[in-house]
Amino acid sequence: MRIEQVELRYVRLPLKRHFETSFRRTQERHTVLVTVWADGVEGWGESPVEDGPWFSYETVETAWHVLREFLVPLLLGQTVERAADAWDLMARVRGHPMAKTGLEETLWDVEARQKGVSLAQLLGGVRERIVCGVSVGIQDTLADLVSQVEGYLAQGYRRVKVKIKPGWDLDVVQELRQRWPNIPLMVDANSAYTPADADRLVALDGWDLLMIEQPLAHDDLYEHSLLQRRLRTPICLDESIPSPNHARAALELGSCRIINIKPGRVGGLAQARRIHDLCQNRGVPVWCGGLLETGIGRAHNVAISALPNYTLPGDVSASDRYYERDIVLPPFRLNPDGTMDVPRGPGIGVEIDRPFLETVTVRRETFRGL
Ligand code: MG
Repeated sequence: MRIEQVELRYVRLPLKRHFETSFRRTQERHTVLVTVWADGVEGWGESPVEDGPWFSYETVETAWHVLREFLVPLLLGQTVERAADAWDLMARVRGHPMAKTGLEETLWDVEARQKGVSLAQLLGGVRERIVCGVSVGIQDTLADLVSQVEGYLAQGYRRVKVKIKPGWDLDVVQELRQRWPNIPLMVDANSAYTPADADRLVALDGWDLLMIEQPLAHDDLYEHSLLQRRLRTPICLDESIPSPNHARAALELGSCRIINIKPGRVGGLAQARRIHDLCQNRGVPVWCGGLLETGIGRAHNVAISALPNYTLPGDVSASDRYYERDIVLPPFRLNPDGTMDVPRGPGIGVEIDRPFLETVTVRRETFRGL
């Protein structure tokens, strides 16, 4: 496919309700969408950045800069045989996986459309539906948390993950477990703990959690390996796994027993699939987390979740979990049994709600090849 034109779009989409992790509270989603035209076919991707360097060092402005000055010039006017080759073509640019993801995903969408298959099929997906979990942020009170969890369970979500931090952890898990002894339950600390907190984390072992996600530093593998030896509950790593090399090191060290593979964190779908394959070969289950993506990034996350080793429920929830109105049609919906259909149409399998997208676009820039 010959890359004829690329467009970047800075989008601000209001969240239905604030989302709080151990590091910050968000009211509005800031993200960068990428559109590519190749052989006359349009493809869409998302760089799931934020307005500041919180989950990752990347921001709207760093992604814009790296895409505009480096990544787009590398690909514009070039002929790329397969979307899976794009990672290597972008390898000269070090880091910046979210910026790369937005551009890389567009090519997967184009290739799937050209071949008349769904993105999930092109990636090697084997599922028609994925099982959905929900991620619930830190609340002002335990009563608020309980009522939210109750609502999500009533909607059908099959696994509940709650964000924790020191002081919002043991009581929270105890309260939820006493109310719902049998639901699949897990916690995510987003690196809020240090090795000195190990006893506090070991105290979570008695509550039959599916996993404890990213308890220690975002760039650590070694301390996690020591903690995992003390815990019966599996550790799942998220922030600590930015690449297949990190995944291999984590598994060799015993730093975790589960990996959350987010395309945006690892530089796109090809890298996500490499980590998936590595884990599959070693019998390590994976699942797909979320970065509050709009329907575009969500569509890519749904497609990758159809791969065979995505065996645990992910955070890929319905559009209405986060947004009053999503920018794709139809929006992603939860089935009553807590699953979500993997789109079957060509490419990402959803349409862009163009009139609405215009109302939430705050900046746009187009680049044309020669
Ligand atoms: Mg996480």
